[in-house]
This record gives sequence, C-alpha cells and structure tokens, in this order.
Amino acid sequence: MAIIAIALFLMLVLIAVGVGLKKDVPVEESEDPVLHASGIYSIVRKSPREAVDRIKPSEEEIRKYLSSQIENIQRGALSQKECEQLIKRWNEAINQSVMTVELGDRSNVEFYFYEFSSGECSVCKEFISRGKFVTREEIFLHPQILPPFHLGCTCSILPHHGKEDLRDTTEMGMLPLFKGKAPPPLPDWKAINFTNVIRGASA
Ligand SMILES: [Zn+2]
Repeated sequence: MAIIAIALFLMLVLIAVGVGLKKDVPVEESEDPVLHASGIYSIVRKSPREAVDRIKPSEEEIRKYLSSQIENIQRGALSQKECEQLIKRWNEAINQSVMTVELGDRSNVEFYFYEFSSGECSVCKEFISRGKFVTREEIFLHPQILPPFHLGCTCSILPHHGKEDLRDTTEMGMLPLFKGKAPPPLPDWKAINFTNVIRGASA
C-alpha cells in the first residue's frame, strides 16, 4: 500500500511540475500583421507610380509655384529656362525612382539606399544622407520617401542587390532612415537647390 501511495504521490508531483513548466514557456510575440498577412507581397510589389503621383506635387502645381517666385526671377536667380529645367528634372527624377522600384520588384529587391549625384544636396543634407536605407515595405507604406524631395534635388534611390539583411549589417556605414514606424521629416518640395540649377544651366 505504502509503495502505491508513494508512486501516486510521485506521479502527482510530476504532473504538477509539468503544468508549472508549461506555464513558463514564453508566448511567442505576435508579429506585425501588416508585414506578415498572406498576400502582402502582391500589394507591396505594386508599382509605386500611382502612390507617387498622388503624394508628390503635380507639374501644374510646380509650374504655378515657380511662376510665383517673382523675387527670385527678378534678382536673376531663376530664369524661365531654369524653371523649365527644374520641372524637367523633377519629372525625370520621379520617373527614375518609380522605374528603379519597378525594376527592383522583378528581382525581389528588399532594400534601397539613397545616393546623391553631386555628392551632397544642400537642401537634403539636413534630412537625409548618402547610404541611408529603406525597405520595400517602407516605400509601400510611405511612398513620400522616394526622391526627389524638392526642386533641384540631386537625391536618387538605388537597389541593394546583396542577400544580407541591411538591418543586421553595418556595411558601408549604412543606416536605416527610419528610427521608428513613422518616416522622419523630409524637405519641403518648394525648397530649391539653386546650386544644382546653376550647375545644370551652365552644363
Ligand atoms: Zn535634395
């Protein structure tokens, strides 16, 4: 009898310990529903054209704004030719950004980084630096992070073709543009990089 009682007691102890252990197993942290919902990639990989057209100022808007810059025009800082050049460059830069992402989507590019054609953009330098990177998902969620950011902007976006996750590397001193979920402040599109206008005009 005593042996049976001891055996039963031991069994109860083992069951109790088992229950206790189960309770200690940490509950897996729930993952971001936006990033992991099924079918998200078909949405994420949609061309950013529509979103960019919606979020960036239209050519008409830019033209209207530039023609209101009487002071700059009068002091000779902004000729008609230069205004046209700014508009042309704006359109080219928009197309370049959209095409870069469309092309990147064909090879499932996950990361893009910023580059400046003239080394630095006088307007952007307070906001964005060379080598800062964004993910494809961030572009999908916040299409305003695609350059150009303002008139005369020399910033462009380039695909990162490496297999490594840029969030886990310090390669080339690359750092994420985002510090949290929300995009950082970006330049006002009305700011004009005049250096670029002058350089462009003399070229
Ligand atoms: Zn810029």
